Amino acid sequence: MSNKNNKIYLDYAATTPVDKEVLKAMMPYFSDKFGNASSVHSFGQEAIAAIDQAREKIAELLNCNFNEIIFTGSATEANNLAIQGIARNFQFSISNFQTNLKSQSSNSKLHIISTNIEHESVYEPLKELEKAGHEITYLKVDKNGFINVSNLEKSIKNNTVLVSVIYANNEIGTIQPIKEISRLLEKINKKRRENGLSKIYFHTDAVQAFQFLECRPDWLKVDLMTFSGHKIYGPKGIGALYIRQIGPMGLIGPIISGGGQEFGLRSGTENVPSIIGLAKAVELVFKNKEARFKKVLNLRNQLLNYIIKDNKSINLNGSIENRLPNNLNIRFPNVSNETLLVALDQKEVAVSAGSACSARASKASFVLTALGLTEKQAKESIRITLGKDTVGEEIKKVAEIINKALLDLKNYKGKIVTP
Ligand code: PLP
Repeated sequence: MSNKNNKIYLDYAATTPVDKEVLKAMMPYFSDKFGNASSVHSFGQEAIAAIDQAREKIAELLNCNFNEIIFTGSATEANNLAIQGIARNFQFSISNFQTNLKSQSSNSKLHIISTNIEHESVYEPLKELEKAGHEITYLKVDKNGFINVSNLEKSIKNNTVLVSVIYANNEIGTIQPIKEISRLLEKINKKRRENGLSKIYFHTDAVQAFQFLECRPDWLKVDLMTFSGHKIYGPKGIGALYIRQIGPMGLIGPIISGGGQEFGLRSGTENVPSIIGLAKAVELVFKNKEARFKKVLNLRNQLLNYIIKDNKSINLNGSIENRLPNNLNIRFPNVSNETLLVALDQKEVAVSAGSACSARASKASFVLTALGLTEKQAKESIRITLGKDTVGEEIKKVAEIINKALLDLKNYKGKIVTP
């Protein structure tokens, strides 16, 4: 059951509760084991040993090196670090004549390829780079929510330094062909090497994908990968960036400077309890991934069927194929999502109008308009996301509550149309 108070929470893409096992692992590090990991004495040693163990655990599960995992204050920060960090490093290299990028292009303008359905924490740093004079290509998704890899290939230029593609979208759950992209980049990078051009790095925001999909970087063949604690039953305020170790200079430069923690890439006293919590949450994901996937997929499909049975006019936004198993994004024609959300909240059902970041602003979702929906249609859409503890009883109840709310709204407005 999602909640003891009979409330039903179906907004797990926004955040998840901390797992009891995670909380238990974290607890000692708030008070008993409170040392600063940079201190030389035994309190500090205890803290750094715990951080090392957590990093080792995550590295082992992701099949990567210990020093390829950088803890950050959120996935937002990890995405910023990936994008701004790589841009900084390239610019630094250009200004020091340490790459041949200067000869590749007449100026130091970098080119980055991304998509038009990235999370704001990728989109906004890209906008910043654009303002600073760099060039960004935003690949458009089709009406089902997928990018076209051959369009990506066509967008590559000599000064392309990074491709950043979200693994699974936070609003519609569509899964991008990350493996296909990395295979393409491998082929292209081989040619670039032969022609003396620098490598194009590949970043993916795996925040929503992490608990359900294969996320080992050596399998995905990505250079940078972002994940977050609070989307996987870990604490809020902790994220991580996987950074492939390349060359003595490293792949990226820091965006936060100070005491040089996290291999110099993220200064600031380490958040020990949250790092421990993240490692435990990752461990539980790896232990339960398949079972969680099957369970939520089954319940999600049941819910969709229940809703469709009584509402033939609804539309599912984004493809049902290649979609996260816990995600539904449904448009109820002529019903404002704000009105429906409030009606459902009054019946103690929590769903969302879109991504948590934009949920408070009554703006149309840019992800939905990217699929071709009008602003009005986007504002008729709600996101329902299931969690590992969602049960069948709740699904049935939610379907009934939604159907009843729609009937009530219909009576009130009297203008729901059935195509
Ligand atoms: N990327 C995606 C796809 C997300 O869904 C989110 C959170 O909504 C983030 C990044 C940001 O994560 P955090 O809340 O840890 O900053």
